[in-house]
Amino acid sequence: MNLPYLLLAILTLLFIGYLVWNNGRQKSQGNSYNPFSEDYLLGLNYLLGEQPDKAVDIFIKLLEVDSETVETHLALGHLFRRRGEVDRAIRIHQNLIAKPQLSKKQRTQATLALGEDYLRAGVLDRAERLLLDVVQSGEFQIPALKMLLDIYEQEKEWVRAIQTAEKYQQVSNEPLFARIAHYNCELAIDSRLRFGSEQAAKYLKLALVSDKNCVRASLLQGSWDMEQQDYKQAIKCFRRVADQDIWFLTEVIKPLGECYEKLGQSEEYYQLLHRYQNQAPRLSLVLVLSERILQEQGALAASEFVTEQLYAKPSLSGLSRLIELQKLLSADTAKYNLQLLFNITQQLIMLKPVYRCENCGYAGKVLHWQCPSCRQWGSVKSIQGLEGE
Ligand SMILES: [Zn+2]
Repeated sequence: MNLPYLLLAILTLLFIGYLVWNNGRQKSQGNSYNPFSEDYLLGLNYLLGEQPDKAVDIFIKLLEVDSETVETHLALGHLFRRRGEVDRAIRIHQNLIAKPQLSKKQRTQATLALGEDYLRAGVLDRAERLLLDVVQSGEFQIPALKMLLDIYEQEKEWVRAIQTAEKYQQVSNEPLFARIAHYNCELAIDSRLRFGSEQAAKYLKLALVSDKNCVRASLLQGSWDMEQQDYKQAIKCFRRVADQDIWFLTEVIKPLGECYEKLGQSEEYYQLLHRYQNQAPRLSLVLVLSERILQEQGALAASEFVTEQLYAKPSLSGLSRLIELQKLLSADTAKYNLQLLFNITQQLIMLKPVYRCENCGYAGKVLHWQCPSCRQWGSVKSIQGLEGE
């Protein structure tokens, strides 16, 4: 047991001792009452002797449950849960719920706490049952619905997640339309595997009804249209991404190129990329456009284009591309040195993450629609600036 926790536990004990003493004093109407009773000291001894299970038993026995001590029981349970000692929190909350003298609201509060204990312990079915009871009671609906959403996400129960999110929106007035759109995207992916593209497309439409800027729905539909060789429809979906959220433009540059190429419309593709580059400069666009300029006008023109873009928006990957182009224009010795520089910049790029969560800062090389760290939806985006796009 570390020191801060020990101090916190001792403070809690002293507080419990005070409550017991205060209750005793009131009950005995002036008779003297010893706050440091034999049981109390025994409990303290168990705690100091790192036997918290025995200490919890003593506290539960010592602390009579009445309207004035319910909060103390809940605080003690919360303390144990925060420490990751969920078993002890469960025992405290179960003991609380078993007491007949609790008011309806207090019982619901204790049920909510026990539901959270089971959620933390990973016993999702028990947590779900308790939290559904809480929602049914009409009290503490917002925290209960929030935890139920967590459970349904973990279980990948997307239909229930949608129903719960809709209920949450009603009682909290907090919009969850973007999250509901992601749930529909999850359903689309599932149903495509089981029932085919037609059913999946219906869920993607629902995703866009919920959130018209759901980039993920457009990307999914575009990639499925590509698989069906419907390149015109795929281009429509991918181009919609730039209107929905320009931040995700990087994700469509490559598939758009493949679609235009299949239709024999490469010229339209490069014109589109130039328009995007004026609208929202991106390194990914610079790389594709510089390759095109290299093929059509040679290394000098491509190098000038990249230099111009680097002045406007410096980036490590842009520098690497410039070194690569300069190498084509250089004599043997310089070429050798430039190759060394190119290798170093490439190694640096390899070490850098590509995406970062706007909410918690989690960074990685894969685009996650739900952040693996903070579990927020749609918060992971490509990194901008010197080390990114
Ligand atoms: Zn995050």
